[in-house]
Amino acid sequence: MTRKPVNSRLAEFGTTIFAEMSALAVRTGSINLGQGFPDTDGPEEIREAAVRALRDGRGNQYPPGPGVPELRLAVAGHQRERYALDFDPDTEVLVTAGATEAIAASLLSLVHPGDEVVALEPYYDSYAACIAMAGGKRVPVTLRPRDGAFRLDLDELRDAITPRTRVLLINTPHNPTGAVLPRDELAAIAALAVEHDLLVVSDEVYEHLVFDDAEHVPLASFPGMRERTVTIGSAGKTFSFTGWKVGWVTASAPLVAAVRSAKQFLTFVASGPFQYAVAEALRLPASYFDGFRADLRAKRDLLATGLAEAGFTVHRPAGTYFITTDIRPLGEDDGFAFCQALPGRAGVVAIPNAVFYDNRAEGAPFVRFAFCKRTEVLQDAVDRLKRLAA
Ligand SMILES: *Cc1c(COP(=O)(O)O)cnc(C)c1O
Repeated sequence: MTRKPVNSRLAEFGTTIFAEMSALAVRTGSINLGQGFPDTDGPEEIREAAVRALRDGRGNQYPPGPGVPELRLAVAGHQRERYALDFDPDTEVLVTAGATEAIAASLLSLVHPGDEVVALEPYYDSYAACIAMAGGKRVPVTLRPRDGAFRLDLDELRDAITPRTRVLLINTPHNPTGAVLPRDELAAIAALAVEHDLLVVSDEVYEHLVFDDAEHVPLASFPGMRERTVTIGSAGKTFSFTGWKVGWVTASAPLVAAVRSAKQFLTFVASGPFQYAVAEALRLPASYFDGFRADLRAKRDLLATGLAEAGFTVHRPAGTYFITTDIRPLGEDDGFAFCQALPGRAGVVAIPNAVFYDNRAEGAPFVRFAFCKRTEVLQDAVDRLKRLAA
């Protein structure tokens, strides 16, 4: 007997590139600089805090839907102390199963079928899938290299906004380009959002991973933005516990209520004992955050120098733990083919940035490497990549 084809609404999304490239790394014994997960765990005392919570029976049963009070209080404290943004921990903070669920719940609750969502391109891969699940239409605004970094074209952003635009989906510091949107560009985005009465979903999971004189400024801190912005944070990147899946949303009470309505039917709750540990992590002294940043900056410099020596054009990131390179100086222009061949040529796995573009040709010459790995692993990768120059 035959049956109807499956006909998935999400067929175009297939398997994420990260799963595919991580499998390629394992199969070929290559160094995996594709998927962005650290190869060392976060602070020992935070792991111990999770163990204590487990042993003490805190969070082993369904925690409260909005998240445990200790974590909501810690998130509110973090936003107040870092950014002078005041959120009521009871009504304006929502704990989610990582930033991934925060993104999904925000888009599912705020985007109506047919609404347009303007998103920075290249975009994190879950954005496109979640906009599709919400029945929205994505409208990309492309970041392009200018003066050594990927930059937003504000005229292009202005032109992308139509009467059907409902949400601006912003990500800063930006994965995969490593761009950190400067204050004047954020102010211009905020002014556009206010002018057109748009909602803003601001993915700020790399807020603590900024280098040199780059500064992370939350979009919610600009005039008129607090009441229209859903700010998304996560413990995964900041504390090197990507497997714990503890994220959060801060926003006005009506926005949090909307996001919670979707969240409660996705996971309802997640990561009970880890929520207590992350509450402690958010209160770590400045020395933790400074040390983490300094360590990553040194790793960025090691990999950036190595990639340049191997012949890539390197767009040195001001934030995140990714470097986007241009492969054209190597005589290549197809990032997909290049990344498929790289394990054989150099024993390293990277991600073709084209997967983060609607217009794949635009992203074709760019390839992303992650540097959240141990120094000796990065050194080994750099040594291997030298084969490309030879
Ligand atoms: C890693 C990442 C996420 C997902 O964060 P989780 O907390 O692991 O779900 C969201 N947005 C961006 C830009 C990311 O790089």
